Amino acid sequence: MNNYEQELREQICDIGRNLFNKDFIAANDGNISARLSETEILASPTGVSKGYLKPHMLVKVNLQGEIIEAAEGYRPSTEVKMHLRIYNELPEMNGVVHAHPPYATAFAIKGEPLNKMMMPESVIAMGDIPLAAYGTPSTEEIPDSLIPFLGRKTAVLLESHGALTWGKDVMSAYMNMERLEYTAKLTFITRMINGERELPQNRIDELVALRSFYGM
Ligand SMILES: [Zn+2]
Repeated sequence: MNNYEQELREQICDIGRNLFNKDFIAANDGNISARLSETEILASPTGVSKGYLKPHMLVKVNLQGEIIEAAEGYRPSTEVKMHLRIYNELPEMNGVVHAHPPYATAFAIKGEPLNKMMMPESVIAMGDIPLAAYGTPSTEEIPDSLIPFLGRKTAVLLESHGALTWGKDVMSAYMNMERLEYTAKLTFITRMINGERELPQNRIDELVALRSFYGM
């Protein structure tokens, strides 16, 4: 195993611990993956708490989801299909994170996208966070529900389920998950104090123009 693979495995485990400690996943939920090479993906295994992942537990699959390498007793999650859809459709994206963060999942269950432009960083980094239509886990329904957002978004709510984020590397995908949950939490809190207030359109336009400045 080369150094890059070792580092990537450790980074995925690290992200798993963060997702777990931040309450973004419960028990064995959620999954994380990263592109290792043109033909190989490293993915968290099924049936394991992502808070206690060890580098050797990760499984290596190809872009069709076939196992290339896995330690005995470990296999990929059936949810890896939505990760593979991202890798197959978007060659520039190299990391995917799926979790059930409670505030974001509450909005996903309600069926409400996070589309209020309330604060500068969220507008610059994410824009609106749409809702991908409900699908049964493990089928092609969830990957298919992502089609409208590929190439346009890097974070979506999965209706009645949770959230999916992706990025140019696995750390960016994780950061997008943090931002998504933060946006959901802020939307909840501002609504509780009757304080949901969007920025005026001219201010939103200024922030959108800044996106290229930030390299986004
Ligand atoms: Zn899930």
